[in-house]
Amino acid sequence: MGLYPLFADLTGLPVLVVGGGHVAERKIRALRAAGACVRVGAPELTATLCQWVEQEQIEHLAGCFQPAWLDEVWLAIAATDDRTLNARVAACAAERRVWTNVVDDPALSRFQVPAVVDRAPLTVAVSTGGAAPVLARRVREALEVQLDHALGSLAMLGQRHRAGIATRWPDLAERRAFYDWLHDGPVMALLRNARPEAAERVLLDALGAKESASPKGAVLLVGAGPGDPGLLTLRALRALHQADVIFHDSLVSEGILMLARRDAERIDVGKRCGGRHTQQDQIHQLLLEHAQAGRLVVRLKGGDPFVFGRGGEEMEFLHRHGIACEIVPGITAAVACAAYAGIPMTHREHARSVHLLTGHGKESLDAMDWPALAQEHQTLAIYMGVARLEEIARKLLEHGRRPDTPFAIIENGTLPQQRVVTGLLRELPTRAGEHGIHPPALLIIGEVTALANEHAWFGERSAAVDHDLSAVPT
Ligand code: SAH
Repeated sequence: MGLYPLFADLTGLPVLVVGGGHVAERKIRALRAAGACVRVGAPELTATLCQWVEQEQIEHLAGCFQPAWLDEVWLAIAATDDRTLNARVAACAAERRVWTNVVDDPALSRFQVPAVVDRAPLTVAVSTGGAAPVLARRVREALEVQLDHALGSLAMLGQRHRAGIATRWPDLAERRAFYDWLHDGPVMALLRNARPEAAERVLLDALGAKESASPKGAVLLVGAGPGDPGLLTLRALRALHQADVIFHDSLVSEGILMLARRDAERIDVGKRCGGRHTQQDQIHQLLLEHAQAGRLVVRLKGGDPFVFGRGGEEMEFLHRHGIACEIVPGITAAVACAAYAGIPMTHREHARSVHLLTGHGKESLDAMDWPALAQEHQTLAIYMGVARLEEIARKLLEHGRRPDTPFAIIENGTLPQQRVVTGLLRELPTRAGEHGIHPPALLIIGEVTALANEHAWFGERSAAVDHDLSAVPT
């Protein structure tokens, strides 16, 4: 026989917690949040519980358990580590018809406390009746990821205007369509962007409009991170779950695309050197057409959309055409590759600053401030530099960077096939050639890269990682 699910209103009701340790403290925190008047019965209390007693937020029943403590309460929780005592509390409570929970002991409990996902006023409670606590925890975690943090605000906004919505759309089907628009459209987007007043204005405009609100397209510029799907942000994942259509770069891994909504259309607009590619202005047009058709468009880019990702241009173009645009940052390749190669980008002894640079095209190299970049104790992270290693090394050496400055090249960073090749600046092109480095690869130059050998933790150690850098002065 299953349990009967129940949400209890404890506002102002006395509740007993037996036990004064950290478990009791956790239970009391939750009970107080629900407005209960907590009495805690125990010989000793944690420092926090003592503080709450002093502040008169809870009442302390000092000493050993007495059945009379149960006389007036509506609920009891036994949270001691003494099973015999817990059983006695449960038995005494049963005599008085007081509902009791014994922490982590379903057999002794009359009620159980579920795992909770809190998007107040939305509360999701998960229970396996004590059969599989790990399963309950995993379901809760899955829901935590799925449920947008702005859902609570949306529920409250909807509640405030429920009467108005019902009057405006007496027809049930139309009303449902309006609620769908509320969840999927601009109101939710504004709440997510911490603009509750603007969200309410849009809702009120829709209530006042003659026509039903038509779906309005929007574009989300989403950073997919460097490759490891575990490095997606929660917001990026939710965007993938919502998308009607996804325009992605070729750098975005299959592992990430697999997380998208099953029926979302996927369009590869990857700009590959040499092969089939889509021009930037064609991408602009595609994004615009799909958004104007009322679809939720996700423009998915490797790393971060605003770091060498042309996200800025796409945003400007879309704004010029009146399309709403949201930006979801991603972990950029430099940050991720450094981390996965065990290289701290700054270090109090080795690097005072970090420069993100691109080696793409001759102009970008010509425009760099080489004398500044050649200074010691700074980290250079160079994107798209594989084709120009020879030139990069030469320029730095010409401008005085030490020939024994260490470097690391991280190929396919964060992916299972990640390779790290290390060496000294004077031998940069040679070593990259020996190891046949291919894009995508990130070049990091600077004293900090000497730490890669010592602190490598991800993937197989390639022979190159074992290159002896111990003699390098840092
Ligand atoms: N917007 C992206 C950068 C796009 S430019 C970001 O923020 O990361 C493309 C370059 O990024 C590649 O040429 C390479 O230098 C670097 N890059 C992207 N993913 C990489 C990876 N997994 N490993 C190594 N370098 C990567």
